[in-house]
Amino acid sequence: MPSAFSLASTLLRREILDLHAYHVPDSTGYIKLDAMENPYPVPSALRGEIAGVVAAAAINRYPDPGAASLKEKIRCTLDLPDDMGVLLGNGSDELIQLLALALNKPGATLLGLEPSFVMYKMIATFTGMRYVGVPLAADFSLDLPTTLTAIRREKPALVFIAYPNNPTGNLFSAPDVMQIIETAPGLVVVDEAYYAFAADSFIPRLADYPNLLVMRTFSKLGMAGLRLGFLAGRTAWLEQLEKLRLPYNVGVLPQVVAEKLLGHHKILLQQAEQIKLDRAALHRQLGAIAGVQVYPSEANFLLFRAARATEVFDGLKRRGVLIKNLNGGHPMLNNCLRVTVGTPDECAKFVAALLDTLNQLA
Ligand code: PMP
Repeated sequence: MPSAFSLASTLLRREILDLHAYHVPDSTGYIKLDAMENPYPVPSALRGEIAGVVAAAAINRYPDPGAASLKEKIRCTLDLPDDMGVLLGNGSDELIQLLALALNKPGATLLGLEPSFVMYKMIATFTGMRYVGVPLAADFSLDLPTTLTAIRREKPALVFIAYPNNPTGNLFSAPDVMQIIETAPGLVVVDEAYYAFAADSFIPRLADYPNLLVMRTFSKLGMAGLRLGFLAGRTAWLEQLEKLRLPYNVGVLPQVVAEKLLGHHKILLQQAEQIKLDRAALHRQLGAIAGVQVYPSEANFLLFRAARATEVFDGLKRRGVLIKNLNGGHPMLNNCLRVTVGTPDECAKFVAALLDTLNQLA
């Protein structure tokens, strides 16, 4: 009888065997600044209301497969254009996968920018889609000529642009992104995971382009635990993509809790405004530290560079602060680290731990 190991090695696709799983470190006990979560728990005044809708939810039944009530809430809360559709995902990760599955004709290409969100490449790999990564300029802005040349050469069926970009934090030039959409022969998805912290959006531009969809998530707005993302765009696209969505991909509890929280959208937006202020303060503090280079950000995190970044990361961890080490992940991210903007107290503890670590390494 062959072992499970040898059976798995024989039967599984080569791409899966070669893939490294998306690593999520154990964060128990740390000041958690590694995953771009909103640091503020649900306000206590709202907890009772949430307990109420959870208690009343029909957990014994399958959820509303179309999530009509939640969709309507999203539409009116975010002022989505009336003529655009909405497709819900169990997090936006699921939507990236759904798009790749839908557009993956034999030989079809998914084009991403690099460095950017790693799931674009990872999902291309495990759906068997051809992946092309186009490097950003050294300052992480779009290298427009190189990108347009790559699009003309590779003719990608699917292009992902994170706007703002993760892990660099910057918002690309909108006219550059428009040129990409105009040049691309395929579908362009502008991924606005960090929309709550950014000054611009492509939702008002959906009507201008037949090949544009905008993707968002509520993960960064205080609902990471609910797993809820959506695509907004023309129904000609979304009606087709709906066919691939598994019928009950958003559970009853995420549906009712997200709807309740969106009823208090103002509170979540106030938290985002606070995070933006704290981001500016943290940016100033990091910028004042000798040997630290911090990049501009329109997201709820900051990218910074420091010599011996992996030792800095380990030093922070020993001092109880967990951030993200990007060193070694991509050649352009040499010695780069990414820190989520936490509460003012968490940011202060992070800065103190960083200064202490840098002093020790000096
Ligand atoms: N897009 C971008 C650019 C992200 O940074 C992330 C999360 N890190 C996601 C999508 C996925 O978010 P979620 O699956 O939580 O909706």
